[in-house]
Amino acid sequence: MVSVSIGDVQRLFLQAMLSRGVLSEKLAKAIWLQCINAVNIEDENIEIPYTNTEESWDTFLKNVNNTINDLDLEFKGIQDELTGKRLFSLVNRKDDETAQLATDFTPSEIIYFKAIVEQIMSARNESFSLSSMVALGEVTALKGKINMTKTQAENVLASFVAKGWLLRSKRGRYSLSPRTLLELYPYIRGTYADELLECTICHEVLTKGIACHTRNCTIRMHYHCFKAFRRRNGACPQCKVDWPREASDVPLVPVGEDALQDGEDSKRRVRARASTSSGDSDEDMEPSQTQSQSQSGPSRGQKSKKGNSSKIEADGEEDVDEPDDDGEGRPLRTQSKRHGGRH
Ligand SMILES: [Zn+2]
Ligand SMILES: [Zn+2]
Repeated sequence: MVSVSIGDVQRLFLQAMLSRGVLSEKLAKAIWLQCINAVNIEDENIEIPYTNTEESWDTFLKNVNNTINDLDLEFKGIQDELTGKRLFSLVNRKDDETAQLATDFTPSEIIYFKAIVEQIMSARNESFSLSSMVALGEVTALKGKINMTKTQAENVLASFVAKGWLLRSKRGRYSLSPRTLLELYPYIRGTYADELLECTICHEVLTKGIACHTRNCTIRMHYHCFKAFRRRNGACPQCKVDWPREASDVPLVPVGEDALQDGEDSKRRVRARASTSSGDSDEDMEPSQTQSQSQSGPSRGQKSKKGNSSKIEADGEEDVDEPDDDGEGRPLRTQSKRHGGRH
């Protein structure tokens, strides 16, 4: 008889995860249980610690991650920003996004995808989203680097969505998907540290949710995190201003596509950086924050966020943004007209 051990549960589990990509916590737990059963069928005398509790699950995850740690892999969870449901994926912890994308994309598509991510991460007003028009316009901006017609670009965008790398909203705006936030997190954190926002409650990356309306207040929350918080608290945990009941109520400020009206971002954003003259996809093209740090000394305001890149003294002419209201400390946007419901 083949001898099996507790380690086989992990092996079976990882094998199943490799073939699945992003999956729900519920499914991951069900597969875990199946793996235990499979091992117990081989040898019913093996004692496999299992209880149907969060604690037991966490211990299992910790053990799995200890096992794959040396490979720079991690079985990692993230909350879906729209539903609050927990998702998991086996992710590469190294900052080599090209390797992550290479199985799904051609080199041109990778360049295009990264340009889309850049537009999303540097979008105005913490809107972390991009209109179809600007997304297609990127193709023109990338002329010389990639050769893609708008029709081809439309198809490529659709495949980004179909494969779960981008989300497309009812309004037709693109934003980062849970898959991208999970699997490309090292790249996004490494490249867009200044733009990245974190939820005050769950400390995970935030691209959709609410911002406190007080100027310079740094509180940001996912919808579901806000909901849970608001049930017990009536005021902002930082500046103590009273908050309305619902995340969609004024004067709370939306983070994500509701932060922009249609047509408000008809222009693409150019991050201040050594211009794109080196026509290749050189990974070493440093993002602006590195420049600004070295050039403008200690001005590394910890909550700089956007607007920072447009303040680079050295070569401000690169910037095409009109001076808008997305400088540090997002201001009240009371004039902001709300759209009906969010979805
Ligand atoms: Zn949160
Ligand atoms: Zn506040």
